[in-house]
Amino acid sequence: MSQIRLKIAIQKSGRLYEDSVQLLKECGIQLRNVKDRLRTEADNFPLEVFFLRDDDIPQYVEDGVADIGIVGENVLQEKNKKAFVVEALGFGKCRLSLAIPRAEEYEGVQSLQGKKIATSYPFILQEFLKEHNVTADIHEISGSVEIAPGIGLADMVADLVSSGSTLFMNGLKEVETILESQAVMISNIALSSEQELILQKLLFRIRAVKKAQKNKYILLNAPNDQLTQIIGLLPGMKSPTVLPLAIEGWSSVHSVLSEDTFWDIIEQLKEAGAEGILVVPIEKMIV
Ligand code: ATP
Ligand code: ZN
Repeated sequence: MSQIRLKIAIQKSGRLYEDSVQLLKECGIQLRNVKDRLRTEADNFPLEVFFLRDDDIPQYVEDGVADIGIVGENVLQEKNKKAFVVEALGFGKCRLSLAIPRAEEYEGVQSLQGKKIATSYPFILQEFLKEHNVTADIHEISGSVEIAPGIGLADMVADLVSSGSTLFMNGLKEVETILESQAVMISNIALSSEQELILQKLLFRIRAVKKAQKNKYILLNAPNDQLTQIIGLLPGMKSPTVLPLAIEGWSSVHSVLSEDTFWDIIEQLKEAGAEGILVVPIEKMIV
């Protein structure tokens, strides 16, 4: 009997490749022959992996050639294909922004009227302009969009930005965000119940990995007379674990802290008399 496998499409090479493979690895899924990079199967999970250009992934998922895929929201919106977003993955963060030559003044979306804008995202840009009742001349180019104004091909660009350094190096400044984007897991809209079950298993693991990445395990020593105050500072999954130390009058306190509040709490713990604070990464976290 052939085993049912869920087919996932991920980027073949490029900005999403490493993080996508890494995520599967952290979910305990071992891939065979990642090097030949066309397709591979997992040894220990019912998953088959296709390596594709990111632009093609929404189409493959809509057609059911792949059941699920990992792609940027920017590409998903641009391709406008039928697929469900099942999980935001937190990597590949960027934004699609309008950028104009640095020396120019920006006078709002209305000033785009009649301008020539170079982009690889004509559909998203068109929708954005329509929303603002602006008509502009969209010039579609597939790569190196940022050089278009410099060579006289366009007045401005709508391009992906993360740090802004590429724009800066090309004499441009970012003036408007059109879309905020990150990598998402998408799924075909009509998975079979068996496929749905595998997807839920995979999502369960992904959520445990993501949660663990946002939290740290903390161990510290506390003088017993300060214990109430110290415990009050620590949220923990239920409540902190408190164990007596071999030395009289001291306890060991264990807890889980989220990354966002981490440094604030550490400082307060020190002030409250905590010593020997250890902070350890968490591999998986199931609540
Ligand atoms: P492919 O060969 O698969 O078509 P590509 O050249 O279109 O690759 P990459 O540059 O590898 O794409 O980017 C893939 C995705 O990474 C983008 O669609 C976007 O979602 C995300 N990304 C994150 N930061 C950036 C950035 N600074 N510039 C471009 N894309 C970024
Ligand atoms: Zn692409």
